Amino acid sequence: MELFAERIGKLGTESAFKMGDDIRRCEETGVDVIRLNLGEPDFSSPENVNEMAVREIRNGNTHYTDPQGVPSFRQSIAKQVMRTRGIAVDPAQVVATTGAKPPISYSMMAYVNPGDEVIYPSPGFPIYESWVTFLGAKPVPLHLEEEKDFRFNAADLEKLISANTKLLIINSPSNPTGGVLTEDGLNDIAGVIKTKADPTIRIFSDEIYEDIIFDGRSHRSIMSVPGMAKRTVMVSGHSKSYAMTGWRLGYAVLPTIEEALIFRQFNINVISCVPPFIQEAGKAALENEENCEIVASMTREFERRRNFMVDALNEIEGIRCVMPEGAFYVFPNIGDVCERLGIIDAFESLSEYVKVNTSPASLFQMFLLYRHGVATMDRRSFGAIGSEGKHYLRLSTATSMELLEEGIRRIDAASKDTRGFREFFSQGQHFYLGA
Ligand code: PMP
Repeated sequence: MELFAERIGKLGTESAFKMGDDIRRCEETGVDVIRLNLGEPDFSSPENVNEMAVREIRNGNTHYTDPQGVPSFRQSIAKQVMRTRGIAVDPAQVVATTGAKPPISYSMMAYVNPGDEVIYPSPGFPIYESWVTFLGAKPVPLHLEEEKDFRFNAADLEKLISANTKLLIINSPSNPTGGVLTEDGLNDIAGVIKTKADPTIRIFSDEIYEDIIFDGRSHRSIMSVPGMAKRTVMVSGHSKSYAMTGWRLGYAVLPTIEEALIFRQFNINVISCVPPFIQEAGKAALENEENCEIVASMTREFERRRNFMVDALNEIEGIRCVMPEGAFYVFPNIGDVCERLGIIDAFESLSEYVKVNTSPASLFQMFLLYRHGVATMDRRSFGAIGSEGKHYLRLSTATSMELLEEGIRRIDAASKDTRGFREFFSQGQHFYLGA
């Protein structure tokens, strides 16, 4: 008898978490590693938020609470949605969750049957693809192309919608590309959805990077397009905007109360509830006006670092990087570097068994880490299906300017180190994460 159920073989992962083992292994060999792999702000949660949580704990607000979320938190989200998206929602449509991640699985389990099709961005947050395959649904990656600044348009989407489509995932600003859908783009996309998709198809709009947008732009949600709120599961949270990744606080706004009750039931089945003192602190994060400037200054710093990184990467021969408009990542094309260092040929020489778990970009990622001390994420980590022949890395700007500068120096050196790569490859180790 097998120890694990068959479905375990279909469960994906988020390599950003797995990367830690490789970084440790690398540091044990004496290399100091510059971490450009991080998916969390390098800032601390605001002091007023910390204070609120401590006060609530001291006041004994430490028990089980409403599985859907405490009413004051849900009211605060409803007000925030009205203020930022112009849509009136009943707090009964809001469900508090432990971060923005649980609503991904809740949506798949609530709406998608095995065999149904799920359209999701690729490259995109890896947990989308993981749940699609885990549940035996059909993955339909919506490829985001560099030539279109990693946005998709209505025509790209229209081609993928079929009679079997059940869920459509969008994520703007995007992880990993930093691409932002424009207001016109969203209107066109909504137009296609309205004409081509059955009204029971849900749009899962992952808006976790909503506050981290550059060049004076502001966030636009598909929920705000007339007629779309009733089809959209809007998800956001505190992890990125308030640098609260470890607090585990997020929320979903459902089109109907009936659907919110299903999400509530998932909370009951999985977590019981989000800690009440976390929710009170989360409410303070949204409502204390001090935090507007804290969020704005963090975003300004991410913008400054983006400007530096894009310019510096484009200076390196063989690297090409489009200008992201949000989030805290840059997503350079490293195809020419892979060619120059012989990585493409090296990849082709691998056995089929090894090849399925790696890619030229993954080999460069591992070379960068083990030989040059820079941790990054490869394209495959953001949706493996259909990623063949796409040579990109994701670099995070959530680290200090000094470390970014040093990271760039090392990437530049690595991009010219043909001999180093040949040696690295001949050792036959570290071809993929956790190898
Ligand atoms: N969606 C996207 C696009 C993300 O990048 C992340 C975090 N990296 C999440 C969801 C999950 O956020 P949380 O940590 O709040 O669960």
